[in-house]
Amino acid sequence: MVISEFSELSTGYSIYAKNLLRQLYQSNKYDVAELACYGEVGDPKLNSPPWKVFPTVPHPDDAQGRQQYDADPFNAFGKGVCNAVFNEWRPDYVLTFFDAWYSDHLVNMPSYYNTVEGGMFNLIWMPTVDAVNQKQSWLSTYKACDGLLCYTDWSRDVLKNEGRLFTHGEAPACGSEEFAPGNKAKAKESFGLHKDTKIITMVSRNQRRKLFPDLINTFAEYLEESGRDDVLLWLHTSYPDNQGWDLSRSIMDNEVCGKVLITYACECGNVFPNHFCGGTAFCGNCHRWSAQTSNVGGRISDNDMARMLNATDLAVLHSNSEGQGIFTWQAAACSVPICEVDYSAMASAVDKMDGYKVPPISLMEEIETGCKRAVPDNAALKAVFHEHFSLPNSLQIMKGAETRRKYVENYSWDKTAAQWMNVIDSLPVKTWDKGANIANPEPFNEHPYMSNTEYARWLIGKVTVQPERLTTFFELNLIEELTNGVMEGSKMRRQPRQFFYDRYLWFRDRLNQLEQIRCN
Ligand SMILES: [Zn+2]
Repeated sequence: MVISEFSELSTGYSIYAKNLLRQLYQSNKYDVAELACYGEVGDPKLNSPPWKVFPTVPHPDDAQGRQQYDADPFNAFGKGVCNAVFNEWRPDYVLTFFDAWYSDHLVNMPSYYNTVEGGMFNLIWMPTVDAVNQKQSWLSTYKACDGLLCYTDWSRDVLKNEGRLFTHGEAPACGSEEFAPGNKAKAKESFGLHKDTKIITMVSRNQRRKLFPDLINTFAEYLEESGRDDVLLWLHTSYPDNQGWDLSRSIMDNEVCGKVLITYACECGNVFPNHFCGGTAFCGNCHRWSAQTSNVGGRISDNDMARMLNATDLAVLHSNSEGQGIFTWQAAACSVPICEVDYSAMASAVDKMDGYKVPPISLMEEIETGCKRAVPDNAALKAVFHEHFSLPNSLQIMKGAETRRKYVENYSWDKTAAQWMNVIDSLPVKTWDKGANIANPEPFNEHPYMSNTEYARWLIGKVTVQPERLTTFFELNLIEELTNGVMEGSKMRRQPRQFFYDRYLWFRDRLNQLEQIRCN
């Protein structure tokens, strides 16, 4: 069973899920099902895949179900339905490639964790590790998995160094078959660009980790220093975005309005680059002001994206960290040289596909996660622009061909799916056929003479009755909560012992109920 965003949607997770599920299904070795996040009961698309699909979103007419669904944001990732679905399908292997905080419930949920023998199925996880200084809670979640994969060899090293966690291999997303080399001059002309214009492209969401202002500033400096007027910067992103950068300001301040293109896509199907003109542009095809910047909801097709990359001379990902950054894999598949920050997944990409490296000047700790984000050396990025665009045309093209050769040598969906199958085949099947694990919690007792550490151990051993959680991060976290309090909004509030007792009593009752359902 694969847990991801529904394979018929067009998000990055969906595309990954579709490719993986298809290969697992076609291998004829497994019974395949998907727990489809954002999949909605009653949607006819649920019947499109040949495998079984379990949606997570209740029917639009099911008001009560919708209310329950909306009550917990993690229901979007399957928290609300996973127990029932697992009990119905009884998987031997559960596969996921979400972030730790999306799917913590998989590790802390009963069908997985309720027996000392180690659960009923093998949980295989490929976490998006995009930075050093991983949180202890994330590492402890990964540690509870039976199998681990990583998106890139860079993240493999982080898991090893920081969590002493060993992965079975790397299984990155790849470009679909649409991403293949095309005729550069024709691709440019199809977008109304002159065939000799040089294009630098960045494809990315408009959010703070993507360093658009630095890229625009650096590009403007490069134009000024080089005196070139035949090089354009093409940004494929969303604007305006309430989480994102004020692109208009960067473009205006640097006086590069005529040198920066933004992708606009119209309802009529027309996709075109235009000088930046805010969130909406005039569509030359249907003659309406109805074209908007690309966004997650209205992604352009892989065909249009491939055409855009084929019009590109240098693909740049200027970002402070990436879980993968699929766009540069797609660019490499189209024979476009790549330039990325030498940090996180981007470091793997430039290493394996022989790209231009932009080293970080330093790593800066981020307040929300404690992870370290790269501060890239913009002067080095500028030097790459100088270097690449001073090369004769033939060498630029050879560099692109070499990038594609390395891409093909290292990556394919076949290789990625084979990594998952290797892990699956290496883990012996567990059984769902176990006696009910029902336990009776001890009644409430404040135990005033116990220390917080002893009280935490009593709650784990005698109230949730899950001794396997002793001496884990779970225990450590509980001691901290007993000592310092529990987060309430943005404030830490101390709670009496009864509060914690009630929490774990509820948890044990829920476990007992689920075990009764499983064994009936
Ligand atoms: Zn139009």
